[in-house]
Amino acid sequence: MTEPNKVEIICSACGAEALLMREPRYEGFRRIGETLTCSACRHEYPSEEEVPFKAAARPVVFSDADRPAPVRLFQEGEADRLCRHCLHYVVNPFMQWCGVHRKEVEATDTCSRFKRKPDPKPPPP
Ligand SMILES: [Zn+2]
Repeated sequence: MTEPNKVEIICSACGAEALLMREPRYEGFRRIGETLTCSACRHEYPSEEEVPFKAAARPVVFSDADRPAPVRLFQEGEADRLCRHCLHYVVNPFMQWCGVHRKEVEATDTCSRFKRKPDPKPPPP
């Protein structure tokens, strides 16, 4: 449940991160609207459109880190099938070696037996 009266704003009058105060405005017994004021400096906004909502100032809710990694199974281009990305590619100080063909390879070779090396595990925190 979200509290409808707790709306965060960045006040255009005082610049503070404050709450929007909503108070119903009556004419006699008839409700004619709301008074929208900054909780910090009591600046009154003439209309909802004038309110500098904090959420509107920062529309990005999810960062890229929250998104799952893109699925890459069959969209791999020839450039992605390089031996250096391959599971069977072994590199040591003397040579680069293909474990399937048991021969020396170049990092930029491509191969029909290409098998993508799993992504390295993220480092422990
Ligand atoms: Zn203010």
